[in-house]
Amino acid sequence: MPDNQNLDNPVTKYPKISPPEQDQPEPGLDTKLEPQADHGEKTYMGNGRLEGRKALITGGDSGIGAAVAIAFAREGADVAIAYLPDEAEDARHVITQIEATGRIGIGLPGDLMEVGYRKQLVHDAADALGGLDILVNNAGKQIAIEKLEDLTDEQVLETFQVNILAMFTITREALKYLPDGASIINTTSIQAYEPAPVLLDYAATKAAINNFTKGLAEQLGPRGIRVNAVAPGPIWTPLQVSDGQPKEKLPKFGHNVPLGRAGQPAELASAYVFLASEESSYVLGETLNVNGGKPSP
Ligand code: NAD
Ligand code: MG
Repeated sequence: MPDNQNLDNPVTKYPKISPPEQDQPEPGLDTKLEPQADHGEKTYMGNGRLEGRKALITGGDSGIGAAVAIAFAREGADVAIAYLPDEAEDARHVITQIEATGRIGIGLPGDLMEVGYRKQLVHDAADALGGLDILVNNAGKQIAIEKLEDLTDEQVLETFQVNILAMFTITREALKYLPDGASIINTTSIQAYEPAPVLLDYAATKAAINNFTKGLAEQLGPRGIRVNAVAPGPIWTPLQVSDGQPKEKLPKFGHNVPLGRAGQPAELASAYVFLASEESSYVLGETLNVNGGKPSP
């Protein structure tokens, strides 16, 4: 086999983790995740690809959103992150990382179940940053339930509120600020096309997000506002340990993809940077799959 020391093999780039069974109350915290996840703190190198941009990221305190927030700041953007009040500790870590780049980092805690907060959040972000030209709808709720008989209408409603209905409200409000050339990126999931039997409500919201993304991209394209989605596969984040997966499945989390391991949040960041930046100027209504090799439609 030829050898190139400069080349990262994606199979071994990160360890194949076998997380111990663990359970956190919702929302889970990155600070308590075992093993700890990588958000690019030590690795992400910015290159001025988002110089002077102004971004709002929901769920930007932890997991994928945290990695995106850190990457955006290192690419030159000012960043507001939204999160639940209980996640202040994770949010502080991310804001510290943003500020270390010399960019503005703003925390906007609140509950996306509340329509008033969804709207206020957008105005507060635009106020604090002096405008808005990137919106990342990334917050998500995922609670695994074995049987439909045990899946309450209350949970279904909450999952739809947080995952997709909030996207409508926030994006509508953001259109008051987003200039021509702005970018909207929605976090969907491989669950949109490969629903797990224990994630019926969650997977249905992700299919809805894919559809919303494509339709809105057609609607806003003529204005020069691009809408795209990122569809992660199994990524090691607090979502998974706060009832997102049955506990006994955690030790094998992510082992069933062609790369044989779970992804780290840091491995998602460049997909969002690409879709936010002008490098993707002719890409609209696209779903960028970052899933370790699972076939996608
Ligand atoms: P995460 O727990 O770090 O992030 C989810 C965030 O959603 C939380 O930090 C929280 O701030 C926010 N949130 C949840 N309920 C909320 C509410 N009621 N009000 C306000 N904010 C709320 O986990 P993550 O895995 O990084 O999730 C980010 C996105 O990635 C989600 O949309 C999730 O569905 C998606 N996703 C994750 C995976 C994975 O394997 N981790 C796979 C596919 C898609
Ligand atoms: Mg969080």
